Amino acid sequence: MTLNEITQIFDTVNFGLVVLDRDIKIKYWNRWMAMHSGIPSNQIIDEPLFDFFPHLSTPSFNKNCKAVLSFGNFSFFSQKLHRFLFPFKPDGSFGYRFDLMQQSCTMGPLRAEDNSISGIFLIVQDVTELATYEQKLVEMNTKDALTGIYNRRYLETRLKEECDRQQRYSRPLSLIMIDIDFFKKVNDTHGHQCGDLILQSVAAKAASVIRKTDFIARYGGEEFCCLLPETDSEAAETVAESLRSQVEEMENRFNDTTTVKVTISLGISGFAAEDSPDSFLKRADDALYQAKHTGRNRFVRL
Ligand code: GH3
Ligand code: MG
Ligand code: MG
Repeated sequence: MTLNEITQIFDTVNFGLVVLDRDIKIKYWNRWMAMHSGIPSNQIIDEPLFDFFPHLSTPSFNKNCKAVLSFGNFSFFSQKLHRFLFPFKPDGSFGYRFDLMQQSCTMGPLRAEDNSISGIFLIVQDVTELATYEQKLVEMNTKDALTGIYNRRYLETRLKEECDRQQRYSRPLSLIMIDIDFFKKVNDTHGHQCGDLILQSVAAKAASVIRKTDFIARYGGEEFCCLLPETDSEAAETVAESLRSQVEEMENRFNDTTTVKVTISLGISGFAAEDSPDSFLKRADDALYQAKHTGRNRFVRL
């Protein structure tokens, strides 16, 4: 096969192919690269790669090039770690979660006939679709479909991690269990759809009240759980009171004629040295039970 014939193949494949010489100048730029970069091959051939893509001139990329040129190493730039090497718009962005094409790239040596390393080849694969599916799968496993906050399964994982951290570093950690008061009555009076809307509003409100480093999950039907790292019991009381009062003030508009108000009861526990995740959670649950039985729309700390 002639070089021209081989080039014909590489100009039709569905991935990027770049060849660099030992000075990191571009010697080959296939049609896929030209299409996605908007830079035609005749404009970029013999030019230094870093003139066109200066962001690639990092110590780590340069180190990889050196390793290929000196030892014939192969390097893999995974999407998980690097996201992409070349900032291209994704193909047909329908349903994609990424502004830029996600790429898996492989770099390896090109050898001359005497086996010396004459350059580097770089293969660029578009993995945006795969990365989107992966992200959606993770989300389905960790998030609650109705409210969009984390689910109970993920809470249990995080709870264990945070309890372990607390036991290792003796940092304060608090938990707030939240339950909507008389929620059955909301469903019975206004219908299940209205109940769903209230669940969404309460979850969104609670998520907006807590800090970025806090963690909120839907624990069950109309129960939520907040995990507050680096927060002692007194600070957790302030958070609980803020949640309670802000939910109480919410006007949940269901339709043009119906506005529904709800309150929440809250149970707080502060992590103690002898606690397990279960005992920590149980104390918050017991505190919530007490809040329910001493009037509702209030918090209790145990
Ligand atoms: P309390 O003040 O003691 O908490 O009373 P309550 O009515 O809130 O408690 P109860 O446990 O008797 O009722 C909880 C209700 O929550 C019953 C159930 O139908 C409703 N529920 C659970 N999950 C959902 C959901 O996803 N959507 C809707 N709309 N309702 C739900
Ligand atoms: Mg309940
Ligand atoms: Mg309830």
